[in-house]
Amino acid sequence: MSYELTSFEKEMESILLEMQQQLQGKIAETDQDFRNVVGASGIKDSIDLATDDMAAKKMEAISKVDSNRLKAVEQALIRIKNGKYGICAQCGKRIPEGRLRALPYALLCMDCKSRNENH
Ligand SMILES: [Zn+2]
Repeated sequence: MSYELTSFEKEMESILLEMQQQLQGKIAETDQDFRNVVGASGIKDSIDLATDDMAAKKMEAISKVDSNRLKAVEQALIRIKNGKYGICAQCGKRIPEGRLRALPYALLCMDCKSRNENH
């Protein structure tokens, strides 16, 4: 009962797996930097982190972007396994291969994406 992947899906799967690894590495690195900043201040209970606040906030923002991207990548990998990859999560239409090549973890077609953004 295993779903037979098309060559396009196989190709996208390997790209997504690579993205997943890179993002996981980057997030782990950012976490480490974040801990270094907090640790270097010598204050563990975060009462007065004003000086490092900017740096910490920036890292937090970066890691949020990365972790959202990682979630999208993981979702896409699950969709490949379920045979739902490339199908818009909102309207159920096929997402064009060109869009998926540009954005392998896209869950929505262009129409739904722009509709969501206009709201
Ligand atoms: Zn759609």
